[in-house]
Amino acid sequence: MAKDKIKSIKGFKDILSDEVRYYRYLESLLLQKTLQHHIEEMRFPILEKSELFNRTIGESSDIITKEMYDFIDKNGDSICLRPEGTASLVRTAIEHNLIYDRGIKKQKYWYYGPMFRHEKPQRGRYRQFNQFGIEFFGYSDTNSDLEVISFGDKLFKELSLKNITLYVNSLGSHDDRVKYKKVIVDYLSKSIDVLTDEQKNTLSKNPLRLLDNKSDNIQKLLNGIPKLYDNLSESSKKRYDRLLDKLTKLGITFINDNSIVRGLDYYNDTVFEWRHDNLGSHGAICAGGRYDNLVNSIGGYDVPAIGFAIGVERVVDLLKNIPNKIITSYTIPIINLCSEDSINSIEISDKLRSKYPTIGFINTDSSSSFSSQVKHSLKINDEFIIIINDKNVEENKVTVRHKSTKMSDMNLSINELYDLIGKSYE
Ligand code: ATP
Ligand code: MG
Repeated sequence: MAKDKIKSIKGFKDILSDEVRYYRYLESLLLQKTLQHHIEEMRFPILEKSELFNRTIGESSDIITKEMYDFIDKNGDSICLRPEGTASLVRTAIEHNLIYDRGIKKQKYWYYGPMFRHEKPQRGRYRQFNQFGIEFFGYSDTNSDLEVISFGDKLFKELSLKNITLYVNSLGSHDDRVKYKKVIVDYLSKSIDVLTDEQKNTLSKNPLRLLDNKSDNIQKLLNGIPKLYDNLSESSKKRYDRLLDKLTKLGITFINDNSIVRGLDYYNDTVFEWRHDNLGSHGAICAGGRYDNLVNSIGGYDVPAIGFAIGVERVVDLLKNIPNKIITSYTIPIINLCSEDSINSIEISDKLRSKYPTIGFINTDSSSSFSSQVKHSLKINDEFIIIINDKNVEENKVTVRHKSTKMSDMNLSINELYDLIGKSYE
């Protein structure tokens, strides 16, 4: 009896080779940009102590209340699959004395890798997804906010993403947030009867989150609420005005949107996100902000910081609609007709690979018939095929089918083959 097929876990996406090309395209551009900005890479474990996120992200956030993949390890520790990268990166940098003890308080890092959240799977929302993030530690000036935002702006422009909008807001200082939370509570308490139980719960635990709540009743009620901006301290207002002015001067288009509050507790002053206009609830492709108190809550000393995280799957989804946004590599098939105990084909293939490192050479399966090897080869490259057989090799030659001779066979020396490849594809 046939065994049942084993399937993947719900919300965990396989990325097949055709799609991987888009990831590679995005990743190569990201790598290039991090080098240009001298931002250095960090890698940290996928499993962390649950406490790391419980302490930093905020107990009323979606991640902590619903989405953490946390469990008890065999030795009784409470551990989790990381839901985001910032807290892990901060832990890593502190643990290795990179943002304090060395006296070098200024560091710029990037990370890339899978994150895990137990969400309802749908397009653009997975339980395992990849984030690319940059984080600047020790930077408190508005130019660092500007550089981080400009990095994203340039990236999305270079990727030719259309219908992308940048939303910016300021949450002010910690005290400003406390003060404004009270404004929201006082304001909405007057209409407490029309709130749902969930909204009442959010009002008591994390009132700021009601600002970006999409429900009609909340939006209507919030129409006349005193503005967050008007409740900021003078220094936060000045900082924010300066940043908006710099964004304008740098030619970065944005919408100043008081309802952007972000889901995580650790942000202060600048917060921002890029959203695709037509993707609805999974429209955010990148989000970030300033988090001057996070380092302190993990390590016990003050280091201002700012960063963002890009949702790689969502960007890849958009890239698929743009022609020519994949890495296309050139490959020449090599058919082996030599006897079974010969290494000629592999030897010659390796020579070609070291001579032309940016071209692919694929060895076909010599146990299948010549005609099926040709058929397979033509699917990969219908203009250039190399055929290797013992007799030719003895004469230091290879057989080539090439478009210039209408794919008829010609015998070339290795040097002539090098020339032909060079002429055709360099
Ligand atoms: P959302 O509002 O879509 O739930 P979020 O505020 O939870 O996003 P962040 O924690 O700020 O997201 O993560 C940064 C980016 O990571 C998001 O803008 C999004 O592009 C991506 N992202 C977040 N959750 C998922 C997910 N479950 N699947 C795919 N991408 C995600
Ligand atoms: Mg979310």
